Amino acid sequence: MDKMKKSWKNHSGEIVNSKEDFDVIDCESCLFKHIIPLIDAKELDQYYQEEFYLNADHYIKHHTEDIEWGEIEYNEKYDIFDQQISKKNKRILDIGSGPGYFLKTGVERGWDVLGFEPGRPAYEFSSQELNLNIINQPFSYENYKNFGCFDIIHLNKVLEHITNPRQLLSFSFEILNPSGLISVSVPNDFNPLQEIACNYLDKEPWWVVPKDHINYFNFNSLSRLMNSIGLEVIYRTSNFPIELFLLMGDDYIGNNKLGREIHAKRKNFDIAMAKTKKTKFKREIYNQLADIGLGREITVIGKKIIPK
Ligand SMILES: [Zn+2]
Repeated sequence: MDKMKKSWKNHSGEIVNSKEDFDVIDCESCLFKHIIPLIDAKELDQYYQEEFYLNADHYIKHHTEDIEWGEIEYNEKYDIFDQQISKKNKRILDIGSGPGYFLKTGVERGWDVLGFEPGRPAYEFSSQELNLNIINQPFSYENYKNFGCFDIIHLNKVLEHITNPRQLLSFSFEILNPSGLISVSVPNDFNPLQEIACNYLDKEPWWVVPKDHINYFNFNSLSRLMNSIGLEVIYRTSNFPIELFLLMGDDYIGNNKLGREIHAKRKNFDIAMAKTKKTKFKREIYNQLADIGLGREITVIGKKIIPK
């Protein structure tokens, strides 16, 4: 059966899922999947201020529990940044810096850091507890040029939440130094293991959460978006394909307790590889998984190439 197409303003494409009052379309103008109708930026800001950020206690607590595991991945990212950027006085901007642990690793490695964090609890934690340089605002048209230029701009779990990811990336590109990098990490949605688990376990796509997640990326659509603003993709990787647990009999969907247990298992795997000094080998495993579109989250790093 042909899938149905739907349009909203300038956005049009096949419907890949519908939930609540929203459809997810594979948008032919944006070239990635997103919900329609799109949510007005002001309404979205209100939703985050009233519902999302105030439930930040768990969010900060989980990050703090995860610190040993988190630092493995943070250091892997900074290893790539340090290989690519060899000058002194390197500056990194983290848009949506959350509790700040990623930037803390940067400070420890000698980077000059700045974070934008609109959520009040995460802002207070990162600026007061971790002593970091954080602006308690969204990164926006009004403020993006006020803080100088950067060698790295890091966006972890941001692009899936906002109404106009292309515009945010374009602003970031404008304040990126020549040869600078933009590193984007997002959930890997509508991936092959999710689709298999949906069919096998007769589930609705649990990762479709309108308002919270507006956009749904995979390697191809994210790379295409980054290329379209002038970045050359230099690195793609992923992390543990956590949906494997579903197919092995651990149905963690909607079960937070089991979800945390499974999360602990995948952390154990990464920590075991780090403790046996096999982090590079682990990274090869994840890079191979990235090549076939797997991994719960994906990271794509693009470089600003200035034509000579
Ligand atoms: Zn669109």
